[in-house]
Amino acid sequence: LTMPINQAISAVAQLQTGLAAFGRIEEVLRLPAERSAPEGPTGAMPDRAAIRFERVSFSYDRRPVLSDVSFAVPAGGLTAVIGPSGAGKSTVLALIERFYEPDSGTIRIDGVPVDRMTTGRLRGRLGYVEQSAPVLAGTIRENLLLAAPHAGGLRLASVLERVGLAEVVARAPQGLDTPVGDNGVRLSGGERQRLAIARALLTDAPIMLMDEPTSNLDARNEAALRDAIAEVARDRTVLVVAHRLSTVVDADRIVLLDRGRVAAAGHHHELVASSPLYREMLRRQLLLPSGVG
Ligand code: ADP
Ligand code: MG
Repeated sequence: LTMPINQAISAVAQLQTGLAAFGRIEEVLRLPAERSAPEGPTGAMPDRAAIRFERVSFSYDRRPVLSDVSFAVPAGGLTAVIGPSGAGKSTVLALIERFYEPDSGTIRIDGVPVDRMTTGRLRGRLGYVEQSAPVLAGTIRENLLLAAPHAGGLRLASVLERVGLAEVVARAPQGLDTPVGDNGVRLSGGERQRLAIARALLTDAPIMLMDEPTSNLDARNEAALRDAIAEVARDRTVLVVAHRLSTVVDADRIVLLDRGRVAAAGHHHELVASSPLYREMLRRQLLLPSGVG
């Protein structure tokens, strides 16, 4: 693994411009050497959940933000964390990534408490797509190769197809080698985000975290991004934080956070039946006729 890492780091070095927001990808590139090690503690029952919160409480500077939060993200498929602004959704992702430590409770990935995983191993499990995918310097190909320096043209073509960017690249004057930005192919916000997802797909991280990927997108771009997320969720675990419920009504599982607590969890239909807050959010986003609930 040493060679690809060195080459990845030198690829990063070549693309210094605009890389300030790129720290997380650099971290992902430092893949752990033990990636093929068996999952979980030997002899223990394998945990079917990719991520598990067990009675997690957390405060920023003594102000409680999460209180006794428990939920599971099943391995494979799409799980959405939703809730009003300030509910603690981004904090949930930050705790999974171990940017902070909970005051109490345990967070497990594949059954292993995150505080018992090396940073390298943790980063190797997690891919992250940020809210506003940055436009990077360089060509489309260079942007993708940051995640997988050795990926060949066919592999790149296949991930671009999966996120619905194949046509954009086909139309670009020099194809994959077209620069991104003013002097090449101009990508919309939604296309940049799909490029970021394509990049995340090229890493082998089995768990993908996404924070509000569809905020600020028009309906057409949102639909394309929703398709891309569903595509990723076919063979990975995707945990998406979303404000727009249209992004998540198809999710396999929804965790509704409200003021730092889990207000409801389950499939869309279960939440419609059981959660007044969920119905209220659907109504506000005009996804539910006003007569229901
Ligand atoms: P959401 O993503 O659901 O909008 P966040 O997890 O970002 O919510 O924030 C939850 C609460 O924690 C909010 O009240 C927010 O103001 C507060 N908060 C978020 N980040 C920090 C921070 N770094 N320091 C202090 N308070 C924070
Ligand atoms: Mg947030």
